[in-house]
Amino acid sequence: MDLYSGHINKLIEELAALPGIGAKSAQRLAFHLINMPQDKVKRLAGTILDAKENVRYCRECYTLTDQEMCPVCANSKRDHGTIMVVENSRDLAAYEKTGKYEGVYHVLHGAISPMLGIGPGDIRLKELIMRLQGDVSEVIIATNSSLEGETTAMYISKLIKPTGVRVTRIASGVPVGGDLEYIDEVTLLRALEGRTVM
Ligand code: ZN
Repeated sequence: MDLYSGHINKLIEELAALPGIGAKSAQRLAFHLINMPQDKVKRLAGTILDAKENVRYCRECYTLTDQEMCPVCANSKRDHGTIMVVENSRDLAAYEKTGKYEGVYHVLHGAISPMLGIGPGDIRLKELIMRLQGDVSEVIIATNSSLEGETTAMYISKLIKPTGVRVTRIASGVPVGGDLEYIDEVTLLRALEGRTVM
């Protein structure tokens, strides 16, 4: 790395720290950025800062949004008594894209993983339980079918059952270990329709 200037090294280092970007991609991106026109680089930097400063968590479902409440929670036509629990905002977007789900969401921002030291207190579980004090008839658990996703689903189910709220799990039409965001809409809908009581 000493072959490059300190500034480039720093840029490569920062880019390589991003998820899914290895050393080689970081180098390619860094050189691409250096060769970009000044105004384009400024616009990109500004967009990143803008997003960071203006995006926040919806006060109901905790998805990332520009407003105090996301468009789904703010929509009175949605069924606010049905809450689908997802791991992240990307999964929410995947289900929203189907255009067939009429309930609302709850975004955990992660999943329980004893291996990685992520416990129930590290995801937005407390907030979910708080929401159950309202008029909720069903909680659909749509965490991924990975080990972490299943662990989280079991944990939530045990937590909610005593409250008498119906808890369901989306069908395993979703391949094992599959990330919800990569699965096509038909499969997502089939998984939702085939959900079973936990
Ligand atoms: Zn929301």
